Amino acid sequence: MLQRLPEHNDERPARVDPTASSALPERQTETAALVVNDLWRSFGGVVAVQGCSFDVRPNSITGLVGPNGAGKSTVINLVSGLIKPDKGRIYLDGEEIQGHAMDWVSRAGLIRTFQVAREWPKLTVLENVLAAAPAGHRETVWRALFGRRATRREEALLEGRASELLARLNLTHVVNELAGRLSGGQKRLLEFARVAMVAPKVVLLDEPLAGVNPVLGDELGRAIQGLRDDGATVVVVEHNMGFVERICDTVVVMATGRVIGEGSMSQLRTNQDVVEAYLGRTAAHE
Ligand code: ADP
Ligand code: MG
Repeated sequence: MLQRLPEHNDERPARVDPTASSALPERQTETAALVVNDLWRSFGGVVAVQGCSFDVRPNSITGLVGPNGAGKSTVINLVSGLIKPDKGRIYLDGEEIQGHAMDWVSRAGLIRTFQVAREWPKLTVLENVLAAAPAGHRETVWRALFGRRATRREEALLEGRASELLARLNLTHVVNELAGRLSGGQKRLLEFARVAMVAPKVVLLDEPLAGVNPVLGDELGRAIQGLRDDGATVVVVEHNMGFVERICDTVVVMATGRVIGEGSMSQLRTNQDVVEAYLGRTAAHE
């Protein structure tokens, strides 16, 4: 069953930083698109997330970085509703979403990429994007796909939007190809077109470059910036710090289940905690 939302968010934090660390900026809770507040989650004896708090500015791309095992994927899983927190609160546009199932959270406007179903290999690229359209349009989409009558104007609007998104991702030359025949990187780009078609408020991406040919990195970066330019707020977990620096407006650094630093990359490079826990190691590694 869905949990009822409380009528008042009495415990909504007001610019309070519970970790009380001087290395962290003042919180922007009131205006944030997404607020994570004192989130906790263990698996057996492992405390994967312990007192994690951060705010995500609306219409920004926020990088979530940190060493392996820092708890980044667990935070993504908690925020998207895949798993439930032991403790803590998550607000989407000021509304509490923690404890709700993933479907509920996605209907509220927050999605992660793997939720947009894998491509339909036997449908064309264009049809795949049309099939991802928001629920209100879905009937139109299906009628368009399967030949039954639909409002021609609605069809044209959706197709126009889908074509525009595909063009932006350099997929115009394959719009009529079957999606199953695309390369791995093109499938990833198609996934972004499908996400953009859903027009979510917040998108969570966990390592979008993983398994993709590095030459597509720039294109994926532009696709993520395109989501932001369309009005979405994006949170992206990624190890490639060059990529993070290029596309992110701000970066949140996690270590041992909590946030240890936040800001621009140049600010973080002068943050001793962050350098010791992550950036120093990454630099040495590279
Ligand atoms: P990151 O994504 O930053 O690499 P994770 O969130 O995947 O980190 O993992 C954080 C910690 O929680 C790790 O110690 C990991 O082994 C543990 N963990 C994550 N998910 C599970 C799970 N389902 N069961 C047990 N331990 C888990
Ligand atoms: Mg991970």
